[in-house]
Amino acid sequence: METILVLAHTENDGSLAKSAREALHAAATLHKSLAGSKFVIGLIGENIQAAANSIAACPATKYFGVNGADFAQPRYATDAAAAEAVCRAAQATVVVAPATSRWARVLPGVAQRLGGRTDTHVTGVAAADGKISVNRWYYRQRMESVQTRTPRPWILGIDPGSQTPCECGAGTVGVEMVAVDLPDVAKRTTVVGIREPKADAQTIRPDAKLLFVTGAGWTKKQADGQTHLPEAERLILEFLKKSRASLGSSKSLVDQGGEGQAVLPFLSHLNQVGQTGATPRHARGLSTCCHGEEPHTVGWRFVAERRAINLDPNCGWARGKADVLYVADAFKVMAKVNELLATA
Ligand SMILES: Cc1cc2nc3c(=O)[nH]c(=O)nc-3n(C[C@H](O)[C@H](O)[C@H](O)COP(=O)(O)OP(=O)(O)OC[C@H]3O[C@@H](n4cnc5c(N)ncnc54)[C@H](O)[C@@H]3O)c2cc1C
Repeated sequence: METILVLAHTENDGSLAKSAREALHAAATLHKSLAGSKFVIGLIGENIQAAANSIAACPATKYFGVNGADFAQPRYATDAAAAEAVCRAAQATVVVAPATSRWARVLPGVAQRLGGRTDTHVTGVAAADGKISVNRWYYRQRMESVQTRTPRPWILGIDPGSQTPCECGAGTVGVEMVAVDLPDVAKRTTVVGIREPKADAQTIRPDAKLLFVTGAGWTKKQADGQTHLPEAERLILEFLKKSRASLGSSKSLVDQGGEGQAVLPFLSHLNQVGQTGATPRHARGLSTCCHGEEPHTVGWRFVAERRAINLDPNCGWARGKADVLYVADAFKVMAKVNELLATA
């Protein structure tokens, strides 16, 4: 009989992130389709009671928790010890966890300590005839596989954004606290501060409704034989500010910046979408001045509705890569869109 454990950590404010609710949804669905399975939850953080209460209506039969200031900040030694203790207390055979950056660093080590196995980048979990299988994408999202494993415990890192978050309501639950034996050496790493870009310079927004992608065309000579970089910068930033879209880019455009050319200063390789970049999961995407070549569009695998603006009716987007292609000048279109947004 499988014991399915959802293993989540709380956020700074004691809440559960959307990614944790996604893991919960995946695990609850698995539990439903796996006759005789047990479903339990494990939470780790400074104070986990509020998080446990926030998902009281979920079908779990038991809650385990590791509480305390030592578990407030992400730190391999304390997180791994806590996760191991919860897995052992719950006697988990299948562990479903959100693949946050905090958990992604820790879970493979926990699998090793427990003598189990782990799979990362899981995008689906299912059961048929009593057998659990997981989905993963390979070769930069070109091939999807369905895999099973017999060793236990099997720890699954669920890719954030790949599941529907559960909507379990709140209530009050009792949590069995698990003691973790921490040697002093486990606490020698402390987070002294976080360096991050200013809020308005942070253009990568995984939770945005729209992915707005810029291509090298923004820096190319236009019909008048001139480049229009300052105008491109103004149009793009204005659109991002008004729409709160997430900013993606083609490789060509971010590479130009890396080579020291005068391009759009707010773009870095972190914005790059594609085979050698990111595979974002926004519901909608709008590509501008980007040719839509395969190494780029392969990064659009999970973008549900795709639109592109390109002067070239024969660009890659026209070959089945976009749902809608506007054959138009992106400078003019975005100026009009910004004007409409300003009056909206
Ligand atoms: C191994 C490998 C890995 C790669 N990985 C990636 C990757 O991860 N991501 C990625 O993006 N690329 C990747 N590439 C590069 C990819 O093949 C393309 O070269 C790149 O995506 C092209 O970028 P672009 O479309 O912005 O530029 P271009 O090909 O220069 O296209 C610019 C487009 O802008 C249009 N345009 C110009 N002016 C306007 C205007 N006013 N209005 C509307 N449209 C206009 C033009 O018609 C043109 O289609 C990879 C390549 C290789 C070989």
